[in-house]
Amino acid sequence: MTYRGVMVIGEQRGGELHPVTYELLARGRVLADKLSEELSCVVLGHEIERFAEGIIQRGADIVYIVDNPALRHFLPRPYAAALTRLAKEAKPEIILAAATTQGRTIMPLIAARLDTGLTADCTGLDIDPLDRLLLQTRPAIGGNVMATIKTPTSRPQMATVRPKSAKPNSADKTREGLVVLKTYEDNIFATCEELIDFVKDTTQDVNVQDADIVVAGGKGLKTRDNFRMIEELASLLGAAVGASRDVVDLGWVGYPHQIGLSGKTVSPKLYIAIGLSGSVQHLAGMQTSETVVAINKDEDAQIFKVADFGIVGDLFDVVPELTEKLKEKKNGECVRKG
Ligand SMILES: Cc1cc2nc3c(=O)[nH]c(=O)nc-3n(C[C@H](O)[C@H](O)[C@H](O)COP(=O)(O)OP(=O)(O)OC[C@H]3O[C@@H](n4cnc5c(N)ncnc54)[C@H](O)[C@@H]3O)c2cc1C
Repeated sequence: MTYRGVMVIGEQRGGELHPVTYELLARGRVLADKLSEELSCVVLGHEIERFAEGIIQRGADIVYIVDNPALRHFLPRPYAAALTRLAKEAKPEIILAAATTQGRTIMPLIAARLDTGLTADCTGLDIDPLDRLLLQTRPAIGGNVMATIKTPTSRPQMATVRPKSAKPNSADKTREGLVVLKTYEDNIFATCEELIDFVKDTTQDVNVQDADIVVAGGKGLKTRDNFRMIEELASLLGAAVGASRDVVDLGWVGYPHQIGLSGKTVSPKLYIAIGLSGSVQHLAGMQTSETVVAINKDEDAQIFKVADFGIVGDLFDVVPELTEKLKEKKNGECVRKG
């Protein structure tokens, strides 16, 4: 049997399907359509058949549900064992996972067991029209170049993809697909690993990737004290604070706030960029935002190339005025409610 089709590895955490699954489905759908092949999605867990319908609505032709109590929580060896077994049976020519803790942990294990290559942390994926190979694009040499990598001889071609680097497709309730329930014998899940507890890392407690609104500040703010304007505006809007790398390097905010190639990729409904030039490295982390508003005194700043709304002006005039207006609006609402 030859290798055919595209397979994405969905993620469930604590019995909930993680939204990154839908981003992978959007990526996988594009590749599968270019190859005129089927898109499958595999989810591992226990009593998770209910996810199948939503996965089909977001683009999968086939959903593999691998069900076993040993898969209720993520453990590298049982997950890798099940996925390796399925990959050998289904023989997809491409396997994609998210570049999350789960994806980054299991994909090298699976690639080694299948004796194939793996490109980690891709920001771009495409199909070469000439040889139908997967084009896997990622930053290389410290982020100074974008490298496009191919896997010409081994199969499957495997890649992890940065979360938030693709928009999920909206649910199409008319889509139909095949659901395949896989129950493997218990001994393949045998492991020396045990989940003892789940402890949230509160030092990284900045929800910039999950926020609907991000207010990001750049070096144009000039000092740490001035950067508080960004924090105040973010707080008024119920937004997360983002920053350019230069701002993080200057120590005005911590690394979890950094947006861009060497920081986080975000895709909020609204991204407000203030005093930020819009370097290619910064744009790589925010250009899939739904609406971008930029405030910059330089009308030629690159950030205006991706902005839906641009204000050419001095941020030290514009931001205080905007903040005042928002405060007035907020107070007005309180008075009306009272
Ligand atoms: C390998 C590598 C990885 C990188 N990764 C990242 C990354 O992940 N994220 C990232 O952001 N960068 C990254 N960079 C750095 C990137 O190249 C830029 O240096 C950085 O994004 C610039 O930050 P900035 O926009 O805050 O500063 P600047 O480029 O200095 O821009 C400041 C902007 O503020 C405007 N301004 C100044 N004063 C005012 C004012 N009073 N009112 C309004 N506007 C004003 C200016 O017109 C200017 O456009 C990376 C670089 C490399 C080499």
